[in-house]
Amino acid sequence: MSGDLDTTFGGWRACDACGEAGLRDPSEGALSVAIDQLEERRAELRTQEEAERGGEQAGPLPGLVPWDWGHRDCFPDRQPPYLIEGERMDTLPEMMARTLQLLDEDWFLETAWEDAVRRFYSIPFE
Ligand SMILES: [Zn+2]
Repeated sequence: MSGDLDTTFGGWRACDACGEAGLRDPSEGALSVAIDQLEERRAELRTQEEAERGGEQAGPLPGLVPWDWGHRDCFPDRQPPYLIEGERMDTLPEMMARTLQLLDEDWFLETAWEDAVRRFYSIPFE
């Protein structure tokens, strides 16, 4: 066996919105994605498809929509399923459970979930 998987929670990072470091209570935090960024990405994809149909060279695909981490209060307009409360992802099994739930959402694969998970857990690539 090549090394055990480190399942230790990496700790709460500074809030993406206000920059305040070190959230102590997971229930104060949340991971969330902006619906308008998802819509912008879709609009960009549609524009590219139309350009391609019109015989134009398509540009690079738009990047995945990042998940924002921070105080729940710093993202007041975000709601589940676009928001995951901190205490629902502070163990690796919980994070896996959230991943499986999110796979039911048709927008999930348009988000940079892998980056979000790797911010909290050091998961090896192989
Ligand atoms: Zn904040």
